[in-house]
Amino acid sequence: MLFGPAGVPVSTQKRSSVDGIAKVRALGLDAMELQFVRRVAMGEECAHQVRRAARENGVRLSAHAPYYINFNSKDPEKVKASRERLLKAVRISAICGARNVVFHPAFYHDDPPSIVYERAEAQLRLIADQIRDEGLDICLRPETTGKPTQFGDLGETLQLSAEIDAVSPCIDFAHLHARSGGAINTYAEFEAVLDRVRQLLGEGALQDMHIHLQGIAYTGAGERKHLNLAASDLRYEELLQVLVGWGVRGTIICESPNLEEDALLLKRIYHLLGDKQGESRT
Ligand SMILES: [Zn+2]
Repeated sequence: MLFGPAGVPVSTQKRSSVDGIAKVRALGLDAMELQFVRRVAMGEECAHQVRRAARENGVRLSAHAPYYINFNSKDPEKVKASRERLLKAVRISAICGARNVVFHPAFYHDDPPSIVYERAEAQLRLIADQIRDEGLDICLRPETTGKPTQFGDLGETLQLSAEIDAVSPCIDFAHLHARSGGAINTYAEFEAVLDRVRQLLGEGALQDMHIHLQGIAYTGAGERKHLNLAASDLRYEELLQVLVGWGVRGTIICESPNLEEDALLLKRIYHLLGDKQGESRT
């Protein structure tokens, strides 16, 4: 697995994506998720520089699209604007060489989840067609969300991925934990998540996972805010043990406030567990 921060590492002196990529490498990490979460401000020239920096440093890039996306808005103009925002993030990500583009599809408002699902699916099909027509090497990654008011539980996220070729899940384990009011926090529960991925999407999906992992505070209404792992009740060591045991591959992006510190912690433990497993096999 590859490990990295959600955005430019906190300890980076100059706050640019290019400097962030070099810092990721210097820290001994492998990946970085570009944060287009307010808007896509990056121009094409910068995107080409980012691509070069990532290649030179051997850093795997992904991207997070703007938060202001809602495919269940009552206002058709806002749905269209959501589509355009996601496409804008997709196009600039393609130039950056960031294949995985993470986003939150919708809010339920007061609508039945099945209707919201249909609306989200219809919009994602339009975007997937556009990606294909433009020949972009992009994988849309709807994220499992942290609040029950947000579309995107595990079932919905996996179903979208099963229905549309260009879509695969971004599994945010902290969000699953918060959304379920504190469940999804044991070895068996983490395995059950992977088992559903395998059932719905096949073994190949476990070899190409995009994961978010950080500490989290939550209430009965789901996610409150992200925390550093040490301040949270999320049993990340057990999760890492499951990922090692199942031979899962892909990228783990850390959204803890301390970004790179927790990313490094996860990477260290993951490799310790992997070494241990290797020793017990021989
Ligand atoms: Zn997100």
